[in-house]
Formats: sequence, structure tokens, C-alpha cells
Amino acid sequence: DKAGTSKPSKQRVVAKGTNVPSACSSFEDMQEKYQFPSQLMANLESSGYLSPTGIQENGIPILLESRDLAAISPTGTGKTLAYLLPTFAQLGSPIAHRKDGESSKGSGVRAVVLAPTNELAHQIHNECLKLAQGRKWRMVLFSKATASTLADKAVREKIDIIISTPLRLVAALQSGHLELDNVRHLILDEADRLLDSEFLEQVNEVIAACSHPELQKAVFSATLPANAEKVALGMMRDPVRIVVGLKDT
Ligand code: ADP
Ligand code: MG
Repeated sequence: DKAGTSKPSKQRVVAKGTNVPSACSSFEDMQEKYQFPSQLMANLESSGYLSPTGIQENGIPILLESRDLAAISPTGTGKTLAYLLPTFAQLGSPIAHRKDGESSKGSGVRAVVLAPTNELAHQIHNECLKLAQGRKWRMVLFSKATASTLADKAVREKIDIIISTPLRLVAALQSGHLELDNVRHLILDEADRLLDSEFLEQVNEVIAACSHPELQKAVFSATLPANAEKVALGMMRDPVRIVVGLKDT
């Protein structure tokens, strides 16, 4: 079992899908292969992230190859960085600071991270702040007050990334002042909860609003019950599924 012996971290990784992109065992390899900005490398280092965990070795290349992904990996294995790093690597210039005529992946919100609780959304936002140091992306943690601030076009046009619970994002969509049609990266964190009946309707509403044909979808979870996995895979195109297990010792 080659995958199981490749790291001292005792993580066994099983990947399924067509043409699964190869894992990268270091952040330097990732940078070389996918050319992400050196600022991002500096931010990894200053955050104390020196080498990738199993979910990161496998998941980051899959997301950088623009594949849809269902990733199952235990709590504490670094799932947040596994989706934020490729998101930041692909985001392009902050909208508010783009030079005239600079082409990138269009304007408007380009990434959305959904989380089941405000507490988790807050933690993800903090992680974003660490990784985005030196870049002026506007990363908005949606709160109760957000929907009303979006009425100001100048405010909503400068948002690059949204981190939100389904409830708050749907409230903003219903205010009529938020467009998600240029979103390229949609991530569901703790997807077992987001794909359960409590949130599914709202999550589907968000997915429907993310209408760009190149939308990449990724779900991350510590566990994914069969019915939630079926829903997740059903909304994806040619997905890769990876499962990280703690190896028996
Ligand atoms: P999960 O979402 O899988 O439960 P988190 O993303 O919350 O895990 O990460 C758990 C902890 O591990 C956090 O404190 C995070 O900063 C840290 N961490 C993540 N990736 C790395 C890494 N490559 N090297 C060192 N620490 C990491
Ligand atoms: Mg997590």
C-alpha cells in the first residue's frame, strides 16, 4: 500500500475518479507545478504550514486542476487549508485594486465558502486573513447585518470571497442585491451537515445562484453518510472522491 507509507503522519489516502491528479508531497512542488504566487508561499510559512497533510497533498492538486471534489478526512487534518490554498492560488487580483483593462476571471464574487455555523464561518474567515496577507482581497464574513450593506453597489462589487452560513447567504440573495453568477469556486465545509435536511434547501438555492458554467464544486467533511454523499456527487461533474483514514498502528 504505497499511499499508506508515504508520510509519517499515519494517514492513508484513497482516491477514486477518472484521471485523478497526482498528489504533491510538498508546498514547493505545488508552487512549481501550478505556479502560484510567492506571497502565498510566504504566508504559508508565516502561518507555520511547512508541509502538507494527507488531505492537502491530495486535495490541493485536484482543486488546482479544476476538478470537482468530495473529500472526507478526519477532524484536525487541515481541511480548511486544503480548499483555501487552491482558492487563493486561482483567485486573481483583488477586484478593488485591479488596473484598468486588467483581465482576470471577471468581476464580482469569485469564491463562496459555506459552513453550517457562524462559529465555523468565523474560523474560516480567520484562516483566510492569514493566507491572504499582503493581498487586498475583500473577504466578507456574512453576518445578520450584511444583507442591508449590500444595497450599496460600491460595497458589493468589491467583494472577492464570501464566507457564510446558508441562512445568511440566502437572506442576502433574497434581498436582491447579491449576484453569484461569476462564482468559480463553491466550497461546502462540514458538508455532512450542509447536505442534511436542515440546510439542503438553502444550499440548493445558493448552488442555483452560482450559475457560471465553470463553477467548481467541492465538499469537505469528516464523515459523509451515504445519502449526503449521493447528493454531493449528484451535483458534481466528473468528481474525484478522496477518503483519508487514520492508519491502524
Ligand atoms: P479540519 O477542518 O480538518 O478539522 P483544520 O483545517 O481546522 O482541520 O486544521 C486543524 C489544525 O491544523 C489547525 O490549527 C490548522 O492551523 C493546522 N494545520 C492545517 N494544515 C497544516 C499544515 N500543513 N501544517 C501544520 N498545521 C496545519
Ligand atoms: Mg474543518
